[in-house]
Amino acid sequence: MSKQKRFFLTEDEIPRYWYNIQADMKHKPMLPVNPKTHQPMSLDELSTLFARECAWQELNQTDAWIEIPEEVREYYKYYRSTPLVRAYGLEQALETPAHIYFKNESVSPVGSHKLNSALAQAYYCKQEGVTNVTTETGAGQWGCALSYAAKLFGLEAAVYQVKISYEQKPYRRSIMQTFGAQVTPSPSMSTRAGKNILTKCPNHQGSLGTAISEAVELAMTTPEKCKYTLGSVMSHVSLHQTIIGLEAEKQLEMAGEYPDMVFACFGGGSNFSGICFPFMRHNILEGKTTRFIAAEPASCPKLTRGKFMLDYGDEAGYTPLLPMYTLGHNFRPANIHAGGLRYHGAGTIVSQLKKDGLMEAVDVNQIESFEAGILFAKSEGIIPAPESTHAIAACVREANHCKQTGEQKVLLFNLTGHGLIDMAAYDQYLAGNLNNFTPSDAEISMNLDEVKNL
Ligand SMILES: *Cc1c(COP(=O)(O)O)cnc(C)c1O
Repeated sequence: MSKQKRFFLTEDEIPRYWYNIQADMKHKPMLPVNPKTHQPMSLDELSTLFARECAWQELNQTDAWIEIPEEVREYYKYYRSTPLVRAYGLEQALETPAHIYFKNESVSPVGSHKLNSALAQAYYCKQEGVTNVTTETGAGQWGCALSYAAKLFGLEAAVYQVKISYEQKPYRRSIMQTFGAQVTPSPSMSTRAGKNILTKCPNHQGSLGTAISEAVELAMTTPEKCKYTLGSVMSHVSLHQTIIGLEAEKQLEMAGEYPDMVFACFGGGSNFSGICFPFMRHNILEGKTTRFIAAEPASCPKLTRGKFMLDYGDEAGYTPLLPMYTLGHNFRPANIHAGGLRYHGAGTIVSQLKKDGLMEAVDVNQIESFEAGILFAKSEGIIPAPESTHAIAACVREANHCKQTGEQKVLLFNLTGHGLIDMAAYDQYLAGNLNNFTPSDAEISMNLDEVKNL
Protein backbone atom coordinates (compact mmCIF):
# COMPACT_ATOMS: atom_id res chain seq x y z
CA MET A 1 0.00 0.00 0.00
CA SER A 2 1.39 3.38 -0.89
CA LYS A 3 2.07 5.67 2.03
CA GLN A 4 -0.05 8.82 2.29
CA LYS A 5 2.07 11.97 2.42
CA ARG A 6 -0.48 14.76 2.89
CA PHE A 7 -3.88 14.94 4.55
CA PHE A 8 -6.58 17.46 3.57
CA LEU A 9 -10.09 18.33 4.64
CA THR A 10 -12.80 19.22 2.16
CA GLU A 11 -14.07 22.81 2.29
CA ASP A 12 -17.15 21.56 4.04
CA GLU A 13 -15.04 19.95 6.76
CA ILE A 14 -13.23 23.18 7.67
CA PRO A 15 -14.17 23.83 11.32
CA ARG A 16 -17.13 26.16 11.98
CA TYR A 17 -16.10 27.13 15.51
CA TRP A 18 -12.92 28.31 17.17
CA TYR A 19 -11.99 26.75 20.50
CA ASN A 20 -11.76 28.99 23.57
CA ILE A 21 -9.57 27.14 26.07
CA GLN A 22 -10.29 29.73 28.78
CA ALA A 23 -13.68 28.10 29.32
CA ASP A 24 -12.07 24.76 30.19
CA MET A 25 -9.15 25.99 32.29
CA LYS A 26 -9.41 25.20 35.99
CA HIS A 27 -7.35 28.25 36.91
CA LYS A 28 -8.55 31.05 34.65
CA PRO A 29 -5.96 33.41 33.22
CA MET A 30 -5.94 36.80 34.89
CA LEU A 31 -7.52 39.52 32.74
CA PRO A 32 -5.78 42.59 31.28
CA VAL A 33 -5.53 45.35 33.87
CA ASN A 34 -6.09 49.10 33.50
CA PRO A 35 -2.73 50.70 34.40
CA LYS A 36 -4.42 53.74 35.97
CA THR A 37 -6.99 52.02 38.20
CA HIS A 38 -5.32 48.61 38.51
CA GLN A 39 -8.75 47.06 37.94
CA PRO A 40 -9.41 44.40 35.28
CA MET A 41 -10.29 46.09 31.98
CA SER A 42 -14.00 46.25 31.18
CA LEU A 43 -15.48 45.44 27.79
CA ASP A 44 -16.06 49.17 27.16
CA GLU A 45 -12.47 50.09 28.02
CA LEU A 46 -11.00 47.37 25.82
CA SER A 47 -13.28 48.28 22.92
CA THR A 48 -11.86 51.77 22.63
CA LEU A 49 -8.69 50.08 21.40
CA PHE A 50 -9.87 46.84 19.76
CA ALA A 51 -12.95 45.90 17.75
CA ARG A 52 -15.76 45.28 20.24
CA GLU A 53 -16.19 41.65 19.23
CA CYS A 54 -12.46 41.03 19.75
CA ALA A 55 -12.67 42.70 23.17
CA TRP A 56 -15.64 40.45 24.01
CA GLN A 57 -13.66 37.38 22.95
CA GLU A 58 -10.69 38.60 24.97
CA LEU A 59 -12.73 38.58 28.17
CA ASN A 60 -14.81 35.47 27.43
CA GLN A 61 -13.99 32.75 29.95
CA THR A 62 -17.23 30.79 29.65
CA ASP A 63 -17.97 29.81 26.04
CA ALA A 64 -15.73 26.98 24.86
CA TRP A 65 -16.85 27.30 21.22
CA ILE A 66 -17.18 30.57 19.32
CA GLU A 67 -18.71 30.54 15.84
CA ILE A 68 -16.52 31.54 12.90
CA PRO A 69 -18.44 34.16 10.86
CA GLU A 70 -19.46 32.78 7.47
CA GLU A 71 -17.65 35.66 5.65
CA VAL A 72 -14.40 34.76 7.42
CA ARG A 73 -14.88 31.08 6.67
CA GLU A 74 -15.38 31.94 2.98
CA TYR A 75 -11.92 33.56 2.92
CA TYR A 76 -10.43 30.69 4.94
CA LYS A 77 -11.39 28.52 1.95
CA TYR A 78 -8.88 30.42 -0.21
CA TYR A 79 -6.10 28.45 1.50
CA ARG A 80 -7.62 26.12 4.06
CA SER A 81 -7.53 23.40 5.01
CA THR A 82 -3.78 23.69 5.13
CA PRO A 83 -2.02 20.38 4.56
CA LEU A 84 -1.04 18.10 7.41
CA VAL A 85 2.14 16.48 6.10
CA ARG A 86 3.92 13.31 7.21
CA ALA A 87 7.61 14.27 7.14
CA TYR A 88 8.93 10.99 5.69
CA GLY A 89 11.95 12.81 4.26
CA LEU A 90 12.92 14.33 7.60
CA GLU A 91 12.32 11.03 9.42
CA GLN A 92 14.64 9.31 6.96
CA ALA A 93 17.33 11.99 7.25
CA LEU A 94 17.25 11.63 11.04
CA GLU A 95 16.93 7.81 10.96
CA THR A 96 14.33 8.12 13.67
CA PRO A 97 11.57 5.67 14.48
CA ALA A 98 9.37 8.64 15.45
CA HIS A 99 6.44 9.57 13.21
CA ILE A 100 6.85 13.27 12.40
CA TYR A 101 3.97 15.38 11.11
CA PHE A 102 3.81 19.08 10.38
CA LYS A 103 0.94 21.44 9.73
CA ASN A 104 1.90 23.62 6.77
CA GLU A 105 0.59 27.13 7.44
CA SER A 106 3.06 28.56 4.91
CA VAL A 107 0.54 27.97 2.10
CA SER A 108 -1.58 30.98 3.06
CA PRO A 109 -1.61 33.83 0.51
CA VAL A 110 0.81 35.85 2.64
CA GLY A 111 2.98 32.88 3.59
CA SER A 112 2.23 32.50 7.31
CA HIS A 113 -0.42 31.56 9.88
CA LYS A 114 -1.05 35.23 10.72
CA LEU A 115 -3.86 35.55 8.17
CA ASN A 116 -6.07 33.29 10.33
CA SER A 117 -6.54 36.13 12.80
CA ALA A 118 -6.14 39.09 10.41
CA LEU A 119 -9.24 37.97 8.48
CA ALA A 120 -11.29 37.75 11.66
CA GLN A 121 -10.14 41.10 13.03
CA ALA A 122 -10.67 42.96 9.74
CA TYR A 123 -14.13 41.41 9.40
CA TYR A 124 -15.22 42.52 12.89
CA CYS A 125 -13.89 46.05 12.29
CA LYS A 126 -15.89 46.28 9.08
CA GLN A 127 -19.02 44.98 10.81
CA GLU A 128 -18.68 47.62 13.50
CA GLY A 129 -18.42 50.52 11.05
CA VAL A 130 -14.71 51.13 11.50
CA THR A 131 -12.92 52.50 8.40
CA ASN A 132 -9.23 52.30 9.38
CA VAL A 133 -7.03 49.72 11.05
CA THR A 134 -3.56 50.17 12.39
CA THR A 135 -0.91 47.85 13.69
CA GLU A 136 2.75 47.14 14.16
CA THR A 137 4.80 44.51 12.43
CA GLY A 138 8.23 43.08 13.11
CA ALA A 139 9.51 40.80 10.42
CA GLY A 140 6.54 41.92 8.36
CA GLN A 141 4.31 38.85 8.39
CA TRP A 142 1.57 40.36 10.51
CA GLY A 143 1.64 43.57 8.49
CA CYS A 144 1.28 41.59 5.26
CA ALA A 145 -1.60 39.56 6.67
CA LEU A 146 -3.45 42.62 7.96
CA SER A 147 -2.85 44.58 4.74
CA TYR A 148 -4.39 41.80 2.67
CA ALA A 149 -7.31 41.25 5.07
CA ALA A 150 -7.99 45.01 5.20
CA LYS A 151 -8.09 45.11 1.42
CA LEU A 152 -10.58 42.22 1.29
CA PHE A 153 -12.95 43.98 3.70
CA GLY A 154 -12.47 47.51 2.28
CA LEU A 155 -10.50 49.06 5.17
CA GLU A 156 -7.51 51.42 5.11
CA ALA A 157 -4.44 49.94 6.85
CA ALA A 158 -1.58 51.91 8.45
CA VAL A 159 1.34 49.71 9.49
CA TYR A 160 4.31 50.65 11.68
CA GLN A 161 7.17 48.34 10.83
CA VAL A 162 10.14 47.82 13.15
CA LYS A 163 12.90 49.88 11.54
CA ILE A 164 15.50 47.12 11.35
CA SER A 165 13.03 44.83 9.57
CA TYR A 166 11.88 47.65 7.29
CA GLU A 167 15.49 47.94 6.15
CA GLN A 168 16.48 44.24 6.24
CA LYS A 169 13.29 42.86 4.69
CA PRO A 170 12.23 45.33 2.00
CA TYR A 171 10.08 42.76 0.20
CA ARG A 172 7.61 42.46 3.07
CA ARG A 173 7.13 46.21 2.81
CA SER A 174 6.55 45.78 -0.93
CA ILE A 175 3.91 43.14 -0.24
CA MET A 176 2.08 45.39 2.22
CA GLN A 177 2.20 48.27 -0.25
CA THR A 178 0.97 45.98 -3.03
CA PHE A 179 -2.15 45.36 -0.96
CA GLY A 180 -2.52 49.12 -0.53
CA ALA A 181 -1.29 49.65 3.05
CA GLN A 182 0.58 52.71 4.27
CA VAL A 183 3.88 51.56 5.85
CA THR A 184 6.03 53.65 8.23
CA PRO A 185 9.37 52.56 9.78
CA SER A 186 9.24 52.68 13.61
CA PRO A 187 10.31 54.55 15.68
CA SER A 188 9.11 57.46 13.54
CA MET A 189 8.58 61.16 14.09
CA SER A 190 4.87 60.80 13.24
CA THR A 191 3.77 60.01 16.82
CA ARG A 192 4.55 61.33 20.28
CA ALA A 193 5.76 57.88 21.36
CA GLY A 194 8.12 57.65 18.39
CA LYS A 195 9.48 61.15 18.97
CA ASN A 196 10.16 60.42 22.63
CA ILE A 197 12.07 57.26 21.81
CA LEU A 198 14.13 58.95 19.08
CA THR A 199 14.95 61.88 21.35
CA LYS A 200 16.35 59.53 23.98
CA CYS A 201 18.01 57.20 21.51
CA PRO A 202 18.40 58.63 17.97
CA ASN A 203 19.78 55.38 16.52
CA HIS A 204 17.05 53.18 17.94
CA GLN A 205 16.60 50.22 15.56
CA GLY A 206 13.03 49.70 16.62
CA SER A 207 11.34 46.78 18.32
CA LEU A 208 7.85 45.36 18.37
CA GLY A 209 7.35 47.38 21.54
CA THR A 210 8.12 50.73 19.90
CA ALA A 211 5.98 49.94 16.88
CA ILE A 212 3.04 48.89 19.07
CA SER A 213 3.27 52.18 20.96
CA GLU A 214 3.02 54.15 17.75
CA ALA A 215 0.13 52.14 16.33
CA VAL A 216 -1.82 52.33 19.60
CA GLU A 217 -1.30 56.08 19.75
CA LEU A 218 -2.67 56.48 16.23
CA ALA A 219 -5.75 54.37 17.02
CA MET A 220 -6.42 56.30 20.25
CA THR A 221 -6.51 59.63 18.43
CA THR A 222 -9.71 58.60 16.56
CA PRO A 223 -11.11 55.62 18.49
CA GLU A 224 -14.50 55.64 16.73
CA LYS A 225 -13.14 55.15 13.24
CA CYS A 226 -9.73 53.53 13.72
CA LYS A 227 -9.01 50.32 15.60
CA TYR A 228 -5.78 48.77 16.67
CA THR A 229 -5.13 45.17 15.74
CA LEU A 230 -2.59 42.80 17.16
CA GLY A 231 -1.15 39.68 15.54
CA SER A 232 -0.11 37.81 18.66
CA VAL A 233 -0.15 37.83 22.48
CA MET A 234 -3.85 38.65 23.01
CA SER A 235 -6.32 35.90 23.89
CA HIS A 236 -8.63 36.65 20.96
CA VAL A 237 -5.72 36.14 18.55
CA SER A 238 -4.97 32.76 20.14
CA LEU A 239 -8.65 31.91 19.76
CA HIS A 240 -8.64 32.60 15.99
CA GLN A 241 -5.51 30.50 15.54
CA THR A 242 -7.16 27.38 16.99
CA ILE A 243 -8.38 26.66 13.46
CA ILE A 244 -4.88 25.17 12.99
CA GLY A 245 -5.12 22.59 15.75
CA LEU A 246 -8.78 21.80 15.10
CA GLU A 247 -7.96 20.92 11.51
CA ALA A 248 -4.84 19.01 12.59
CA GLU A 249 -6.92 16.94 14.98
CA LYS A 250 -9.22 15.79 12.17
CA GLN A 251 -6.33 15.25 9.78
CA LEU A 252 -4.32 13.18 12.26
CA GLU A 253 -7.43 11.09 12.80
CA MET A 254 -7.42 10.40 9.05
CA ALA A 255 -3.84 9.23 9.49
CA GLY A 256 -4.92 7.04 12.41
CA GLU A 257 -2.63 8.87 14.85
CA TYR A 258 -2.70 11.08 17.95
CA PRO A 259 0.28 13.26 18.97
CA ASP A 260 2.53 12.38 21.91
CA MET A 261 4.21 15.75 21.63
CA VAL A 262 3.33 19.03 19.87
CA PHE A 263 5.96 21.68 19.08
CA ALA A 264 5.52 25.33 18.14
CA CYS A 265 7.86 28.28 17.92
CA PHE A 266 7.03 31.03 20.37
CA GLY A 267 6.89 34.77 19.78
CA GLY A 268 3.84 35.98 21.68
CA GLY A 269 2.18 32.58 21.62
CA SER A 270 -0.52 32.70 18.93
CA ASN A 271 0.59 29.80 16.75
CA PHE A 272 1.54 27.79 19.83
CA SER A 273 -1.99 28.32 21.15
CA GLY A 274 -3.45 27.58 17.75
CA ILE A 275 -1.89 24.19 17.23
CA CYS A 276 -1.82 23.11 20.90
CA PHE A 277 -5.08 24.16 22.57
CA PRO A 278 -7.43 21.80 20.68
CA PHE A 279 -5.25 18.87 21.79
CA MET A 280 -4.70 20.31 25.27
CA ARG A 281 -8.45 20.23 25.83
CA HIS A 282 -8.24 16.44 25.79
CA ASN A 283 -5.51 16.61 28.45
CA ILE A 284 -7.70 18.85 30.59
CA LEU A 285 -11.04 17.12 30.03
CA GLU A 286 -10.10 13.49 29.39
CA GLY A 287 -6.73 13.02 31.03
CA LYS A 288 -4.71 12.55 27.84
CA THR A 289 -0.98 13.07 28.35
CA THR A 290 0.26 14.87 25.24
CA ARG A 291 3.23 17.15 25.95
CA PHE A 292 3.26 20.68 24.53
CA ILE A 293 6.60 22.34 23.85
CA ALA A 294 7.06 26.06 23.16
CA ALA A 295 10.37 26.71 21.37
CA GLU A 296 11.57 30.23 22.03
CA PRO A 297 14.83 31.86 20.92
CA ALA A 298 17.63 31.76 23.50
CA SER A 299 18.05 35.50 22.85
CA CYS A 300 14.51 36.26 24.04
CA PRO A 301 13.67 33.64 26.69
CA LYS A 302 10.50 34.97 28.36
CA LEU A 303 9.05 31.60 29.27
CA THR A 304 12.19 29.95 30.63
CA ARG A 305 13.94 32.93 32.22
CA GLY A 306 11.30 35.65 32.48
CA LYS A 307 9.09 36.34 35.49
CA PHE A 308 5.32 36.13 35.90
CA MET A 309 4.19 39.68 36.63
CA LEU A 310 2.08 42.57 35.39
CA ASP A 311 3.75 44.27 32.46
CA TYR A 312 2.87 46.40 29.48
CA GLY A 313 2.51 44.81 26.07
CA ASP A 314 4.52 47.64 24.51
CA GLU A 315 7.65 49.63 25.18
CA ALA A 316 6.05 53.03 25.84
CA GLY A 317 3.33 51.74 28.15
CA TYR A 318 0.15 52.42 26.15
CA THR A 319 -1.43 48.96 26.28
CA PRO A 320 -3.27 47.45 29.24
CA LEU A 321 -1.10 45.68 31.81
CA LEU A 322 -0.97 41.97 31.14
CA PRO A 323 -0.37 39.34 33.84
CA MET A 324 2.20 37.26 32.01
CA TYR A 325 5.71 35.86 31.81
CA THR A 326 7.86 38.73 30.65
CA LEU A 327 11.44 39.90 30.29
CA GLY A 328 10.27 43.47 30.95
CA HIS A 329 8.82 45.80 28.34
CA ASN A 330 12.19 47.58 28.16
CA PHE A 331 14.01 44.40 27.21
CA ARG A 332 15.77 44.80 23.88
CA PRO A 333 16.40 41.41 22.32
CA ALA A 334 19.38 40.87 20.04
CA ASN A 335 18.70 41.35 16.33
CA ILE A 336 18.19 37.69 15.49
CA HIS A 337 16.69 36.84 12.13
CA ALA A 338 13.55 35.33 13.60
CA GLY A 339 12.06 38.82 13.96
CA GLY A 340 8.63 37.45 14.82
CA LEU A 341 10.02 35.87 17.99
CA ARG A 342 11.59 39.07 19.35
CA TYR A 343 8.83 39.92 21.79
CA HIS A 344 9.26 40.42 25.52
CA GLY A 345 6.08 38.79 26.87
CA ALA A 346 3.99 35.65 26.58
CA GLY A 347 0.24 36.34 26.69
CA THR A 348 -2.07 35.68 29.63
CA ILE A 349 -3.48 32.25 28.73
CA VAL A 350 -0.16 30.65 27.91
CA SER A 351 1.40 32.22 30.99
CA GLN A 352 -1.25 30.63 33.22
CA LEU A 353 -0.86 27.26 31.47
CA LYS A 354 2.89 27.42 31.98
CA LYS A 355 2.40 28.24 35.67
CA ASP A 356 0.05 25.28 36.01
CA GLY A 357 2.47 22.87 34.34
CA LEU A 358 0.19 22.14 31.37
CA MET A 359 2.96 23.03 28.91
CA GLU A 360 6.75 23.25 28.70
CA ALA A 361 9.23 25.63 27.11
CA VAL A 362 12.71 25.18 25.65
CA ASP A 363 15.26 27.66 24.32
CA VAL A 364 16.89 27.26 20.94
CA ASN A 365 19.82 29.32 19.78
CA GLN A 366 20.00 30.84 16.34
CA ILE A 367 22.61 28.52 14.83
CA GLU A 368 20.87 25.32 15.96
CA SER A 369 17.59 26.64 14.56
CA PHE A 370 19.08 27.35 11.14
CA GLU A 371 20.79 23.94 11.09
CA ALA A 372 17.41 22.33 11.66
CA GLY A 373 15.81 24.60 9.05
CA ILE A 374 18.33 23.58 6.42
CA LEU A 375 17.97 19.90 7.23
CA PHE A 376 14.21 20.32 6.84
CA ALA A 377 14.59 22.20 3.56
CA LYS A 378 16.85 19.49 2.15
CA SER A 379 14.60 16.64 3.23
CA GLU A 380 11.09 18.11 2.70
CA GLY A 381 11.73 20.72 0.00
CA ILE A 382 10.23 23.66 1.87
CA ILE A 383 12.41 26.53 3.09
CA PRO A 384 11.03 27.39 6.53
CA ALA A 385 10.67 30.87 8.01
CA PRO A 386 13.48 31.59 10.53
CA GLU A 387 10.78 31.62 13.24
CA SER A 388 9.50 28.18 12.27
CA THR A 389 12.99 26.68 12.43
CA HIS A 390 12.80 26.90 16.23
CA ALA A 391 9.90 24.45 16.29
CA ILE A 392 11.70 22.20 13.84
CA ALA A 393 14.85 22.24 16.00
CA ALA A 394 12.89 21.28 19.13
CA CYS A 395 11.18 18.48 17.21
CA VAL A 396 14.52 17.27 15.82
CA ARG A 397 15.91 17.08 19.37
CA GLU A 398 13.04 14.76 20.33
CA ALA A 399 13.31 12.71 17.13
CA ASN A 400 17.01 12.16 17.92
CA HIS A 401 16.05 11.14 21.43
CA CYS A 402 13.60 8.61 19.96
CA LYS A 403 16.43 7.22 17.86
CA GLN A 404 18.39 6.54 21.06
CA THR A 405 15.47 4.91 22.86
CA GLY A 406 13.76 3.29 19.88
CA GLU A 407 10.44 4.93 20.78
CA GLN A 408 7.91 5.38 17.98
CA LYS A 409 6.46 8.63 19.28
CA VAL A 410 4.08 10.71 17.20
CA LEU A 411 5.54 14.22 16.93
CA LEU A 412 3.65 17.18 15.48
CA PHE A 413 5.05 20.62 14.78
CA ASN A 414 3.66 23.77 13.26
CA LEU A 415 5.36 25.13 10.16
CA THR A 416 4.23 28.72 10.68
CA GLY A 417 5.62 30.15 7.46
CA HIS A 418 8.00 29.81 4.54
CA GLY A 419 11.33 31.60 4.41
CA LEU A 420 11.37 32.64 0.76
CA ILE A 421 11.49 36.31 1.71
CA ASP A 422 14.11 35.65 4.40
CA MET A 423 16.90 34.39 2.17
CA ALA A 424 19.28 37.12 3.36
CA ALA A 425 19.22 35.35 6.72
CA TYR A 426 20.00 32.01 5.06
CA ASP A 427 22.84 33.67 3.14
CA GLN A 428 24.36 34.78 6.41
CA TYR A 429 24.07 31.31 7.88
CA LEU A 430 25.62 29.72 4.79
CA ALA A 431 28.49 32.23 4.89
CA GLY A 432 29.16 31.27 8.51
CA ASN A 433 28.27 34.75 9.75
CA LEU A 434 25.53 33.95 12.24
CA ASN A 435 26.04 34.34 15.98
CA ASN A 436 24.23 33.08 19.04
CA PHE A 437 22.98 35.59 21.60
CA THR A 438 22.12 34.80 25.20
CA PRO A 439 21.28 37.62 27.61
CA SER A 440 23.04 37.51 30.98
CA ASP A 441 21.11 37.04 34.24
CA ALA A 442 22.13 40.57 35.20
CA GLU A 443 20.63 42.03 32.03
CA ILE A 444 17.36 40.18 32.57
CA SER A 445 16.98 41.09 36.23
CA MET A 446 17.87 44.72 35.55
CA ASN A 447 14.93 45.03 33.15
CA LEU A 448 12.58 43.17 35.46
CA ASP A 449 13.48 45.42 38.39
CA GLU A 450 12.23 48.39 36.37
CA VAL A 451 8.89 46.66 35.80
CA LYS A 452 8.26 45.57 39.39
CA ASN A 453 6.58 48.75 40.58
CA LEU A 454 3.97 49.23 37.86
C1 LIG B 1 4.64 36.03 13.91
C2 LIG B 1 5.22 34.74 13.56
C3 LIG B 1 5.60 33.83 14.56
C4 LIG B 1 5.50 34.10 16.03
O1 LIG B 1 4.28 34.55 16.53
P1 LIG B 1 3.38 33.71 17.51
O2 LIG B 1 2.29 34.63 17.90
O3 LIG B 1 4.20 33.30 18.69
O4 LIG B 1 2.88 32.55 16.75
C5 LIG B 1 6.09 32.61 14.15
N1 LIG B 1 6.26 32.30 12.86
C6 LIG B 1 5.93 33.15 11.87
C7 LIG B 1 6.14 32.74 10.45
C8 LIG B 1 5.39 34.40 12.20
O5 LIG B 1 5.04 35.22 11.21
